[in-house]
Amino acid sequence: MSPSSRWVVHLDLDSFFASAEQLTRPTLRGRPVLVGGLGPRGIVAGASGEAKVHGARSAMPMAQTRRRCPQAVALPPRTAVYRTLSETFFGVVRAAAPVLEQVAYDETFAEPAALAGADEDEVLAWAEAVRAEVRSATGLAVSVGAGSGKQVAKIASGLAKPDGVHVVAQGGERALLDPLPVRALWGIGPVAETTLARAGVTTVAALAALELAEVTALLGSAVGTGLHRLARGIDDRAVTERGEAKQVSAETTFDADLSDVVAVRRAVAELAGSAHRRLVASGRAARTVTVKVRGGDFATHTRSETTLVASTDLGAFTETARRLAVAALPDAGVRLVGVSYAGLTTAVQGSLFDDGPETRAAGAAAVEDPETGGMLPAVAVTEALPADARLADEEPAPDPAREWRTGDDVGHPEHGHGWVQGAGHGRVTVRFETRSTGPGRAITFTGEDGALARADPLGSLA
Ligand SMILES: [Mg+2]
Repeated sequence: MSPSSRWVVHLDLDSFFASAEQLTRPTLRGRPVLVGGLGPRGIVAGASGEAKVHGARSAMPMAQTRRRCPQAVALPPRTAVYRTLSETFFGVVRAAAPVLEQVAYDETFAEPAALAGADEDEVLAWAEAVRAEVRSATGLAVSVGAGSGKQVAKIASGLAKPDGVHVVAQGGERALLDPLPVRALWGIGPVAETTLARAGVTTVAALAALELAEVTALLGSAVGTGLHRLARGIDDRAVTERGEAKQVSAETTFDADLSDVVAVRRAVAELAGSAHRRLVASGRAARTVTVKVRGGDFATHTRSETTLVASTDLGAFTETARRLAVAALPDAGVRLVGVSYAGLTTAVQGSLFDDGPETRAAGAAAVEDPETGGMLPAVAVTEALPADARLADEEPAPDPAREWRTGDDVGHPEHGHGWVQGAGHGRVTVRFETRSTGPGRAITFTGEDGALARADPLGSLA
């Protein structure tokens, strides 16, 4: 093996959200589990291996998935639990490879210095050691792919699942890539896929066989050149830490379109508070408040306000967000509302909006890009949010007065920590168990049982 061998690894927790539920609620181990929105417009955020066997996949509509897999247990996401497990996971991986390119809550690239010039057996041993540490620290399975670049490492981690390692030998890139559909390559979306299919190119091998000039004629020179290299197994892109999020946000899609202003104002206030908690948790202040409103006709309206000084004043943020939302209200009911804070700084410079806000409509709107100092359209910043950040924000704090719902964490003075397996008609069935208890016992309570109380979801990790 040449001493210049480069090894990029891609680590990906298996079915992370569903596995976290099975970990902390042992009754669910070995059973199909779906995590996601449970309302009529809910989307699957995660499915356990047992549910994937029945065709369940993330991003599918929840209602359709439950029809396909009726025996599955469907649960709302518990972001606090996932975040805690994710932090532990990244702590373990960072100890083995200090530079990480985090892709999601449960997924990262690394290029461990220890593996420079290593042979395949050494890569395998490194991966198995990290997997064992992740397993012991989190209780979760992580699959690891390794190869000469990010593209190959990512494909390899998919092949490694469940709970395995797949090392692509240096020089073995083409054999891996050739039979795959072009869509498997980085940066090929539906449009490029269609363009290539019209030219008779459906596999990576066919793309690699084209001359560079033919590829750039089809896909343009900027995109085409890089894709042609990737198709030929050449991938020297660096593994680099990603910058901090440029904004924090919260958004929600309603089960039924909202048509009255009072309900919209109430939703906006909740979202402003939810995004504010993330802002404060990140130790930063914001200059720009942006509200996004999507109508029943799917048209999206965005309004922003930017001030000269950054702030963390929730009251002022909420007032601004409500005003912007009302200004953006569509005629056709409201399907989705989002609130985001941008123009983030680490230092709070005095009170909010002292210098008077400037209101701008979307399209014409611009906010400062904190990295370059340049101005970006507000809409572009909104859409740049990492997909995992959205999920994190969709979980509102439970209203202590609301009825018990499936998936709620509860505590009982006699039985300990548990979760609601089912509720309705004045009855609630609770399974008392945590990560360390093994499968617990289910007890059905009737009427008002004052001893049953809401509990911190993190209690299930005990
Ligand atoms: Mg994963």
